[in-house]
Amino acid sequence: MCRGCVQEKYPERGNTCLETGSFLLNYLSCAQCNKRDFVLIGNKATEEEDGEEIITYDHMCKNCHHVIAKHEYTFSVVDDYQEYTMLCMLCGRAEDSISVLPDDPRQMAPLF
Ligand SMILES: [Zn+2]
Ligand SMILES: [Zn+2]
Ligand SMILES: [Zn+2]
Repeated sequence: MCRGCVQEKYPERGNTCLETGSFLLNYLSCAQCNKRDFVLIGNKATEEEDGEEIITYDHMCKNCHHVIAKHEYTFSVVDDYQEYTMLCMLCGRAEDSISVLPDDPRQMAPLF
C-alpha cells in the first residue's frame, strides 16, 4: 500500500459505510503504472470476532495489480443498534448505527 494513488487519505465520509465497492472519486491514478484504470477488489475476507463481523479487501489497480488501499468494514450489534464502521485510505472513514427496533428514539430527536 502506498500513499500516491489517492487524492485525500482517509476522507471523512459521515455515515456512508461501503461493504463492497470503491470510492472512485478519491482515486487519482495508480502510482506504480500511472494509469487510471478500473479498480479491482481482491483478497476479500470475512472474519468474526466476539460477535463483530470484519470484512476486509484490497483495492487493486486492474493494470498492474498494485494494491491501492486496504479496506476494512465492520458490523456488530450493540444493545439495540447495528453499528457499522469503515476504514480505508481510498474510501475514507465512516460510522453508522441503525436501530434494530421499529421506532428509533434517536430519529425523533431534533437534528440540530
Ligand atoms: Zn499506490
Ligand atoms: Zn497500476
Ligand atoms: Zn475502500
